[in-house]
Amino acid sequence: MEKRDVNQNKPPRRSFLYYYGLIMLVLMLLNIFVFPSVMDKTVEVRYDEFLTSLDAEEIDEVYVTTNNEVMYTLKNDSKGVVHKTGLMPGDNITERLAGTDARYSSEIQTQASPLLDFLLTWIAPFVVLVLIGQIMGRAMMKRMGGSNAMTFGKSNAKIYAESETGKTFADVAGQEEAKEALKEIVDFLHNPQKYTDIGATLPKGALLVGPPGTGKTLLAKAVAGEAHVPFFSISGSEFVEMFVGMGAAKVRDLFKQANEKAPCIVFIDEIDTIGKKRDGNIGGNDEREQTLNQLLTEMDGFDGKKGVVILAATNRPDSLDKALLRPGRFDRRIPVELPDMRGREAILKVSARGVKMDETVDYNEIARATSGASGADLANIVNEAALRAVRLGRRMVSQQDLEESVEIVIAGYQRKDAEVSANEKKIVSYHEIGHALVAAMQSHSAPVHKITIIPRTSGALGYTMQIEEDQRFLMSRDEAFNKIVTLTGGRAAEELIFHSITTGASNDIEQATRIARAMVTRFGMSEQFGMVALETVSNQYLGGDASLACSEHTAMRIDEEVIETVRQAHDKACQILKENEEKLHELAAYLLEKETITGEEFMEILKQENCENSDADAAETVEQDTAEHQE
Ligand code: ADP
Ligand code: ZN
Repeated sequence: MEKRDVNQNKPPRRSFLYYYGLIMLVLMLLNIFVFPSVMDKTVEVRYDEFLTSLDAEEIDEVYVTTNNEVMYTLKNDSKGVVHKTGLMPGDNITERLAGTDARYSSEIQTQASPLLDFLLTWIAPFVVLVLIGQIMGRAMMKRMGGSNAMTFGKSNAKIYAESETGKTFADVAGQEEAKEALKEIVDFLHNPQKYTDIGATLPKGALLVGPPGTGKTLLAKAVAGEAHVPFFSISGSEFVEMFVGMGAAKVRDLFKQANEKAPCIVFIDEIDTIGKKRDGNIGGNDEREQTLNQLLTEMDGFDGKKGVVILAATNRPDSLDKALLRPGRFDRRIPVELPDMRGREAILKVSARGVKMDETVDYNEIARATSGASGADLANIVNEAALRAVRLGRRMVSQQDLEESVEIVIAGYQRKDAEVSANEKKIVSYHEIGHALVAAMQSHSAPVHKITIIPRTSGALGYTMQIEEDQRFLMSRDEAFNKIVTLTGGRAAEELIFHSITTGASNDIEQATRIARAMVTRFGMSEQFGMVALETVSNQYLGGDASLACSEHTAMRIDEEVIETVRQAHDKACQILKENEEKLHELAAYLLEKETITGEEFMEILKQENCENSDADAAETVEQDTAEHQE
């Protein structure tokens, strides 16, 4: 989760003084540089020049200011230049003017009110500025999503309340244990009397813990739906607001509303954003802490018998503050794990309820091909398949659509326009057949389901899909090792046939190394170290980064052992391919021609080849026992 710094979200608060100063400066600059040039039409002349023009009757209009300045324009001057001169004291200009045909006037001597003067020069600009500031502020607020900065202390929480979620436990496939644990809460909401009679207080909150997309929100909604109570939902990140104190106010507001609507369910998603351990960091996030404290206070404060149940979801349970987890708060912890094979099949069926499927669809096969997928992934696969069916102008979804959308989720869309040269295509074919052949020649490895060399948007130029026969919970050392052998098979084929290596194996190398490393550091599968945990896994629900927990010396030995394991696997793969070079050629040629082949086609060619080139008995042995012989 990103750590949001509240201060960053505050608009820069510039005082009016700042703007006032700014505008004053602009005015001053205008005064000095711009206005004089506008006034440039005024020319100063000597008094005698004025008198000469006057005598020559050239003057059109005369104007005498209160400062005893004489301003005049000339008759035959189209530019309208204003001449200016000072009035000679004692000169009776009116008399002189009366003798000519010039028009003349003088300024009325008014004493401007000092108050008005003050108002105009100092207050009026200020008022204008305030107005401008207000308008700009409004506009800014609008852009920031309409929250109104003026309602301090009162939250404007857009608390999302549904009176009926319409979801039931039937909408949640699998997750039987979680449902079982939540049934008690449903029963409590239905029938609080039964529990209060005996004097029991029910848990105020339950924490749903699991990887993203496993149906935590769905379960919470189902609880509300089953109990027919309103469902309040808010995400932890919504509490962390742009103004300090808003988060706490939102929590107060939420609980006030929930109390009014009790019995009800309050669902707080991503609670780790506010419920992180308060680690007393200097300059730590005050806002988050205040919000958390408010949440704790509210949870302690409300009447447990009233029927407000708080469900919260997180995928980082280890980062939660202990105070949240103590009895009376989120003392129930309900794991919501990734679905197993049966679970996946059930989720596929639930997701497909509203979708028209034709008779070719085999959910079990899709479930087997999607090990590690979450409920959300599976729902997405079904939808992608439906979209594909529409795109291809069909009215029903077929198995092919589902399989293609599984591949889209795994490897991205097909890149039909990608220009892959003939030579590269050939290398990719051998690489993929290398994987498939090595897999097929070993016992303890999942059967090949599909091989393709159509490039994908993920950057893969081809891949080999293996599907486990059934749900696996354990992996033996041999299986783990064979997996590494299969992963090195692609590169081994390139070496054997082209005597050169390419970058195409980078992903294989990564995976192989990870497995080898885990074997040594976490699964206790190395003879050297035995059953010692050399790595600890943090964040198990979000990728599970591992960090070494051993001395430098040991780390070195781990590296050596990992390298040795992968090297052995690579040797074994090379060996297998060398023994089956004929088949490698034939299969690669076939794949190159077809671009995509199924596991059945693959196996058929593999067997044919055997029958033609050697006697059947020998073929059998090779196929089943290669792995054992090599070890
Ligand atoms: P989470 O809150 O754990 O991240 P969600 O509850 O938001 O996951 O799940 C997202 C979507 O995935 C759901 O709307 C639903 O379509 C699908 N889904 C996930 N798990 C299941 C399940 N066990 N059964 C049926 N659908 C599921
Ligand atoms: Zn590969």
